[in-house]
Amino acid sequence: MGKERDILIVDDNQVVCDVLTELFRNEGFDSWGVATGEACLDEVNHASCKLVMLDVRLPGISGIEVLEAIRRDHPRTEVIIMTSHVSLETAVQALRLGAQDYLFKPFDDLEMVIATVNKALERRRMVEERDKLVHTLTDLAIENGRILAECRRVNSSLEEKVTQRTAELSKANLQQKAIIAELHEAKEAAEAANRAKSQFLANMSHEIRTPMNGVLGMAELLLHSELDEKQKSYVEMLHQSGESLLGIINDILNISKIEAGRLEIERIPFDLHETARGAVELYREVGRRKGVAVELQIEEDVPRCVVGDPNRLRQVLINVVNNGLKFTEKGSVQVRVTLVEQYQNGQYVAFEVKDTGIGIPADCIGNIFGLFAQVDGSTTRKYGGTGLGLAIAKQLVELMGGAIGVESEPGLGSTFTFIVFLHRHADQSPCDEEGGDTPVELDNSMIAAREGRKFNARVLLAEDNPVNCEVAFAMIAALGCQVDVAQDGREAVEAFTRQPYDLIFMDCQMPEMDGYQATRAIRQRELGSGRHTTVIALTAHAMAGAREHCLSAGMDDYLSKPFNLAQLQELIAKWTSPHLA
Ligand code: ADP
Repeated sequence: MGKERDILIVDDNQVVCDVLTELFRNEGFDSWGVATGEACLDEVNHASCKLVMLDVRLPGISGIEVLEAIRRDHPRTEVIIMTSHVSLETAVQALRLGAQDYLFKPFDDLEMVIATVNKALERRRMVEERDKLVHTLTDLAIENGRILAECRRVNSSLEEKVTQRTAELSKANLQQKAIIAELHEAKEAAEAANRAKSQFLANMSHEIRTPMNGVLGMAELLLHSELDEKQKSYVEMLHQSGESLLGIINDILNISKIEAGRLEIERIPFDLHETARGAVELYREVGRRKGVAVELQIEEDVPRCVVGDPNRLRQVLINVVNNGLKFTEKGSVQVRVTLVEQYQNGQYVAFEVKDTGIGIPADCIGNIFGLFAQVDGSTTRKYGGTGLGLAIAKQLVELMGGAIGVESEPGLGSTFTFIVFLHRHADQSPCDEEGGDTPVELDNSMIAAREGRKFNARVLLAEDNPVNCEVAFAMIAALGCQVDVAQDGREAVEAFTRQPYDLIFMDCQMPEMDGYQATRAIRQRELGSGRHTTVIALTAHAMAGAREHCLSAGMDDYLSKPFNLAQLQELIAKWTSPHLA
């Protein structure tokens, strides 16, 4: 189809055709004319045309028929009907069939003809605009649909991914839960193993301490008997070896307690000078025999009365001084106590132990505070020891809020320094716990210990182990007491029922009825009688809580095996009235 043209005039009247063609051309339109309906249809079929000015009365096919054909085949072409005034009905029919407008002939007013044509063309233009708009909207709707479909596709693939990821996450979650459950099980197993280890240590400690009590007690009894020089030295060696073995057992127990977090540091008032002096004093004689001077210097500003754990402090000091002496062949071991820093609630005190011994090689210094660490680990070791002492010392010092370190020069000697925090004694008057320079009132035990006094008490000893029974019996008897023996808890309760005692020494673990049950039975029988017989536990249990266990069963005091004569003497003095002493 050719280029779209503007106005086709269809009229068999040649004059009308020419006038109108000329008129529209003058108006700037591309217009032309034909004389018949057939020619008109021919034209519109070949070149599209915006507007057809159609005469109704034509030779051949009528204007109405042409109109119908144009409406049917060229809906975008507008048609204006030209008719005479008399055929108004034809005009109405043409409008019904889709003509845009009509003009009556002859044309009186050409301006109106042009206006009608412009109006028709304007309408067509608007229809075209509308069509374009509809087209654009349709395109947009299609594009919209496409985008929507794309969104759905992306969405569904996203949903797929989310489902997949969720599945992966829940799988990972399940795996994680399984791992946590495994870890939980492993933790419980480890805790159970740890409990078993603690129980094993408690049992072992009990089992070892029981025979040790026999060994040490018998050795001590022998030392107090008539012996010639050689026998005495043998027994002394026996006693010393027993003491060292006990020391090792205590070290192992200490480590296991520290590892289990069960070692507690006490906070009691004590005399710091006395504690340091007492610990160093123990080694002066050993040093003298070896030819090594053991000296102690306490600076003047170091407070005397402090609050802390005197036993643990003594333990650390003894360990370090003992090492100093052990590893020094000539020269000295000098102990210096200084005040490092004072605060409102206490002070840091430093203990420096300087020896002129073998020293420690630089590559070993970092390790000696570890468990079982020794510089000389060979089987031909010159010096004994377990390698536990410094590890325990380090832990204890840290529990006392301090630290320990060493400086050493092989061949020249070592200086161990440890610092601990000691609380201030609220009342700065002399300490009651450990005495000092100020004279303290001596209680029964101290008087008895000092004077080696004998007692006149009636004592019941409940002990099933024959050797330990023999040891305790001999020791208590040696202190002047009258002793009855019961071989288990039941016998002890029966003996108590038969006659009163000043003191009962009660072993804790016994067949038939143990010491705790026996003590409870005794306390039961005492109810309402106004009597209270002192019951002192004898136990080889040295683990934490043993003392509390005894006291809660109704016992009054506690003596840990192995014990020596002096400890026994002190306890009897403490619990018997002065007239018995
Ligand atoms: P041990 O029971 O073996 O003495 P310690 O833990 O007390 O255990 O000491 C560990 C090691 O540190 C010792 O075996 C020794 O090699 C070294 N050591 C400790 N103190 C001294 C010292 N004063 N001089 C030289 N070596 C020392």
